[in-house]
Amino acid sequence: MAERPYIVGNWKMNGTRAMLSEARAIDRAAQRYMKVEVAVAPPYTLIHAVHKEAEQIGIGAQDCHSGAEGAHTGDINASMVADAGAKFVILGHSERRQDHAETNELINAKIESALEAGLRVILCCGESLETRDAGEAESFVLGQLRAALPIFQDPADRLTIAYEPIWAIGTGRTATVEDIAAMHRAIRALLDETFGEDVSAKVRILYGGSVKPDNAREILAVPEVGGALVGGASLSAENFLGIVVGA
Ligand code: PGA
Repeated sequence: MAERPYIVGNWKMNGTRAMLSEARAIDRAAQRYMKVEVAVAPPYTLIHAVHKEAEQIGIGAQDCHSGAEGAHTGDINASMVADAGAKFVILGHSERRQDHAETNELINAKIESALEAGLRVILCCGESLETRDAGEAESFVLGQLRAALPIFQDPADRLTIAYEPIWAIGTGRTATVEDIAAMHRAIRALLDETFGEDVSAKVRILYGGSVKPDNAREILAVPEVGGALVGGASLSAENFLGIVVGA
């Protein structure tokens, strides 16, 4: 594995200031547990507050608008999240692709503006159950990635990939270790082909989808799994740290 495992909590649309105590607990533990790189992506409203509390953990946003500042009521762009303290942004999450009809083209525009604002990108990919059952999971996921990878001039520093099969997100259902291994191998081969092996080796591929303390160790031991993107189980410091300790 290229670097320390990377465990990222995606709080999704959860969290008020009451969650800051969880962030503090995660940060304190991360200071004692340096062999894992730990990060959280709170909602926009908490980015600055978590950033101020945290000394060790990385802070990111869950999305950003593709444009510069301007007349877009309710939107937040990449330089605004960077200004609030975010160092990375999650882009292309399946919930954004579904709930907000985000296309690869829009995601690419967001990637460009995130990179311009100095952010790292966690680029999500993943297939639906129908696609998997049709035997097209790999070609679908690699297609999502092929659309975006050429944008990255400096992937070693800026890019993390998160493979999240849609049917495993928030369902309590995880992919089998064989499924995870096969997809991560295919993604690695695409990275090798696109960037060359030396650069590819520096890009971590996370798994996401119902990762919990009791399955984290097994998933994180799969070759080419460089960490986890964790939704539900990241909302309690105890559960999240259970995953960190298993990494
Ligand atoms: P989950 O979410 O851990 O709740 O399945 C993962 C994600 O969507 O990033």
